[in-house]
Amino acid sequence: MTTRPPLATEKLSMLIDGRSVAAQSGDFFESFDPFTGKAWALVPRAGVADVDAAVHAAATAFRGEWRTMTASARGQIMMRFADLVAEEAEKLAVLETRDNGKLINEMRMQCKYIPQWFRFFGGLADKIEGRVIPIDKPGVFNYTRREPLGVVAAITPWNSPLMLATWKLAPALAAGNTIVWKPSEFSSVSALFFGLLFEKAGFPKGVVNIVTGFGNEIGDCLVTHPDVAKVAFTGGDATGRRVYQSAAGGLKKVTLELGGKSANIVFADAKMEAAIPGLVSGIFAATGQTCIAGSRALVQRSVYDEVTEKLVAFAKTARIGDPLDPETQVGPITTLPQRAKVLDYIGVANAEGAAQLLGGRIPDDASIADGWFVEPTIFGNVKQSMRIAQEEVFGPVLSVIPFEDEDEAVAIANDTIYGLAAGMWTQDLGRAIRLPERLEAGSVWVNMYRATSYLSPFGGYKQSGIGRENGQTAIYEYLQEKSIWIDAGNSIPAPFVQR
Ligand code: NDP
Repeated sequence: MTTRPPLATEKLSMLIDGRSVAAQSGDFFESFDPFTGKAWALVPRAGVADVDAAVHAAATAFRGEWRTMTASARGQIMMRFADLVAEEAEKLAVLETRDNGKLINEMRMQCKYIPQWFRFFGGLADKIEGRVIPIDKPGVFNYTRREPLGVVAAITPWNSPLMLATWKLAPALAAGNTIVWKPSEFSSVSALFFGLLFEKAGFPKGVVNIVTGFGNEIGDCLVTHPDVAKVAFTGGDATGRRVYQSAAGGLKKVTLELGGKSANIVFADAKMEAAIPGLVSGIFAATGQTCIAGSRALVQRSVYDEVTEKLVAFAKTARIGDPLDPETQVGPITTLPQRAKVLDYIGVANAEGAAQLLGGRIPDDASIADGWFVEPTIFGNVKQSMRIAQEEVFGPVLSVIPFEDEDEAVAIANDTIYGLAAGMWTQDLGRAIRLPERLEAGSVWVNMYRATSYLSPFGGYKQSGIGRENGQTAIYEYLQEKSIWIDAGNSIPAPFVQR
């Protein structure tokens, strides 16, 4: 086992109005290391009063120096922040792995990549332009400005804590908004260290605030707070629905990034030496705990036996173990309730008659017995009507579903309430062009899987979400357009007629 220094004695602080603070109640809660199953850090347990203070700070900051600062200066602060994150990337990655149990290689990749978002959107800050409208009224000058919304509440899940927050914070800050960020109760530690870098970078106090605590205690008061203009949420679809309903009461703007049941489709003409690892990495690399998990492998019937055999053989070789060890390929599940949910789904799949081809149990290995593991699990001959093919498991469970031809592949792939992502493996160029258009998904990968970038839009079709993150246009999710009219001809208005 790699060295695991405890943070448990160190009480962490939230960030409110530029100050490191405890919860007003003085309460803390324990954060657990999913590999040891033990508490390793103490996180402030915010209450309604803390949320109120954070929103107040953000609302005050929105009307202050941040508002009058030039967009270029705003962008420069974001660039400095990017440099600080780059310097601290290794430390942040280790904190994330300790807190959520995802592989150190994955968290390293994410933490090293995060600065690019702040550089890209920091660079966009002074390229937010309005328009001059060739208005159809003589003597009138009409132009538009794109202005920030105000206080943005960012609510994030536990699987990629800093990356998913960055997807919200970077465009929101570049657009001139201020932030109250609530990370998941299961992965707040890296957020609190990230928080220390904002002041260092030169953000005015109150521009970014971080409150930690339980979603069921403070989520609703954050979402419904009258001074919150927009909610940017990533999480499960049940919570997403609730957030959407609460936000509707105040007619707040929302972006929602929710769950998925993505199809990863293998055609008989695929390059199998790429497709097999592609299927495995699509589901097992993050222990299935990713919204874009390729949790349904659709395999053309003529190669079904060959693919399932190779898939099982390959997945069997995956090294399960300490996520801090760079050699590990499958880490633990992040939370105990989530492990129970995964095991429950495995039971459901067996009861529904799916053929269990691999895994399905807690690993029988004393050296990792304290961790919250589930073996990589593969079900064959899954029918699309089964729950295992319809519901998001968010764990290392792959359903393999046979299909005959392109039409059937598309029909099965689209037969879900979700539409986050899809993958396909083929060497037929025509098919590679034809099929992505027919797949109801926000991202489609051909002969690759699980790629995202600050440059390319990301988001869900159907019930996988509302709005887009990443890419240039994401900044518009945090802006509103104002139309300004000037009478340049000094005409005298006719008082009772609309102009
Ligand atoms: P949850 O929906 O349980 O939680 C997400 C966030 O919402 C957490 O910070 C949670 O706090 C908070 N929350 C809980 N209740 C409320 C409430 N009533 N009001 C406001 N906020 C609340 O998701 P998980 O953390 O379990 O993450 C897994 C889910 O996230 C999966 O379904 C996955 O598909 C989805 N996801 C989607 C992505 C996408 O981009 N589409 C990317 C990554 C994940 P707390 O933790 O304290 O309960």
